[in-house]
Amino acid sequence: MFKQYELSYSFDALEPHIDTLTMETHYTKHHAAYTNNLNAAVEKAGIEKDIEDLLASLDQVEDKAIRTAIRNNGGGFYNHNLYFATMGPGGGGQPSQVFLKKLEEEFGSFEVFKEKLSTLALGQFGSGWAWLSVNKEGKLKLSSTPNQDNPLMDKDGFLPILGIDVWEHAYYLKYKNLRGDYVSAFFNVVLWDEVEKLYRKYT
Ligand code: MN
Repeated sequence: MFKQYELSYSFDALEPHIDTLTMETHYTKHHAAYTNNLNAAVEKAGIEKDIEDLLASLDQVEDKAIRTAIRNNGGGFYNHNLYFATMGPGGGGQPSQVFLKKLEEEFGSFEVFKEKLSTLALGQFGSGWAWLSVNKEGKLKLSSTPNQDNPLMDKDGFLPILGIDVWEHAYYLKYKNLRGDYVSAFFNVVLWDEVEKLYRKYT
């Protein structure tokens, strides 16, 4: 049984950056549905794997309908666990000196890093995500994916440590068509300590 990440903050805790109704709907409807649908699909297929293995071995699921269900809902489950765990009240600002230095080495500056990730988020046509990922050697990578796909599915050893959800359900109630305003606001709620914890865990 896959369990939805338990929020450690209330739905209104990210105001004014992410509004209460969006948070509540996103978590209790969208994320809950991905989780329930994933559990139904793996039960039907009789698969028992952890979520990372499952998403990196989709080609081993023979039944095409179940494979698609696991790709979409397993991605949705995993991606939103990461999303909700790396945002919170008191977020934003800059990462610690250590992780900041890492971002500067890789991208030139923290501002350039944010610009590049934002550009990917804005350039994702339709629904999808923009990602910061890391591999075992500590190399960082930026990418974007459609739908609920994620970097695990590329099977190149990179694991996501931060993801910006650019599905309209993540911002439309407050920001309407202004995805750029949402992406800017997102950086005000990022918990860099949590992102850095994942970086350390995976390297
Ligand atoms: Mn979402």
